[in-house]
Amino acid sequence: MHHPCLSCGACCAHYRVSLHWSEAEPDLGGLVPIALTETFGAHQRCMRGTWAERPHCIALQGTVGESVSCSIYDARPGACRELRMSWEDGTPNPQCDQARIAYGLAVLTRDDVDRVLGR
Ligand code: SF4
Ligand code: SF4
Repeated sequence: MHHPCLSCGACCAHYRVSLHWSEAEPDLGGLVPIALTETFGAHQRCMRGTWAERPHCIALQGTVGESVSCSIYDARPGACRELRMSWEDGTPNPQCDQARIAYGLAVLTRDDVDRVLGR
């Protein structure tokens, strides 16, 4: 079984993805490409496309629920790194579950994830 996120991507097309402005500031070690972000409030930016009624991150490639990838995976914001797949750490994650449900995908089960992670 392949990693569930590779055939999902729902969280990248369901939530506003915000980041501290410094994450897109190369002089401060920020890696996120600033052109893929927009200003959001006084001290934040957000990924383009995610501050919308129907969010869809500009960096998300592919089709949600089929096959996806992040075009800036190694430079993605902290919020993306922190959003963990349900059961990755042995507990469900409502953010993962809600995004999947919004796209008509079944929520991940502990068995699904244990199998993928070889536990
Ligand atoms: S919603 Fe969950 S399974 Fe889907 S890409 Fe995000 S973390 Fe992965
Ligand atoms: S930057 Fe990548 S991981 Fe983060 S929301 Fe966009 S596509 Fe998803």
